[in-house]
Amino acid sequence: MRHKTLAMCILTALFFTAVSSWAKTDELVVYSARKEHLIKPLFDRYTEKTQVPVRYVTGKAGVLLQRLKSEGERTPADVLITVDAGNLWHAAKEGILDPVDSPVLENNIPNQYQDPDDRWFGLSLRARTIVYHTRRVSPDELKTYRSLGDPRWEDRLLLRTSKKVYNQSLVASMIAAYGQEETEAIVRSWVDNLAVAPLSSDTKVLKGILAGLGDVGIVNTYYFGRLQKENPDVPLAVFWPNQDSNGVHVNISGGGVVAGSDNRERAVQLLEWLSSKQAQSMFAGLNMEYPANPDVPPVEQVRDWGSFKANPMDVSLYGKYQAKAVRLMDRAGYK
Ligand code: FE
Repeated sequence: MRHKTLAMCILTALFFTAVSSWAKTDELVVYSARKEHLIKPLFDRYTEKTQVPVRYVTGKAGVLLQRLKSEGERTPADVLITVDAGNLWHAAKEGILDPVDSPVLENNIPNQYQDPDDRWFGLSLRARTIVYHTRRVSPDELKTYRSLGDPRWEDRLLLRTSKKVYNQSLVASMIAAYGQEETEAIVRSWVDNLAVAPLSSDTKVLKGILAGLGDVGIVNTYYFGRLQKENPDVPLAVFWPNQDSNGVHVNISGGGVVAGSDNRERAVQLLEWLSSKQAQSMFAGLNMEYPANPDVPPVEQVRDWGSFKANPMDVSLYGKYQAKAVRLMDRAGYK
């Protein structure tokens, strides 16, 4: 009787070990700063194709990074998907992401959109560009990011807060290109032209221009895309600056394999699939972004905004100069 109980205990223990290790190896866990409606359709398709279930947690980039840091080696996460090269750079610097040796990712994603040490890879591109009111501004009046500091735009410029990582990355890229002194002069000239104090979102910048608070602003194009989807006749347009010089500022959303993942091989496979022709159109298109894989065209609405020369700068520099950018914007009075 005693032996029987012991045997049962051992069997039960074995069963649960089997179940938990099955659960561990058979599903992928993704922490994502991209919202559920932007990733679920992709994971559903991936599961259909591979029979590998994908469980995901969504949250703000900073919260997910903090969580991964505190979970350490015990984290259930296999893959991190987040927005902004600055955030990916920080995740890598904190040791949260492991290097990935993948010829598929190397082939699908251009070098400028991946970590030089292969700990993260861009999966979509986000152009941060100038928008203007089509009845109050002629595109001939626009030229470069820098020229938004010209006297012509006095009390007409709207910007989002410098607290947002997108603007920190934009200014970081300018420091990398022009140095601190010149960048600070540009940022000061923008601040001098502000129509109102910096706004809390790109959408507020767009709606501010519509409402007549200002005439021009800087936003990620997908926010314009959302507004245009609601109202195809919205009297706003995107302008591609710096076409005679270094090109449009482009950021990424992207992902990497979490250090301590028990499921590395599958985690890499998921990233590889997300970078493939099959997945890229959907990954970028769901949010009206640009595919990171240059063999895949953007969706029709995005194509209609026209093509542009993108800045060829390595996006890892945005992380490298981010702290300097934050201090510079503070000095320049950019709130
Ligand atoms: Fe965004």
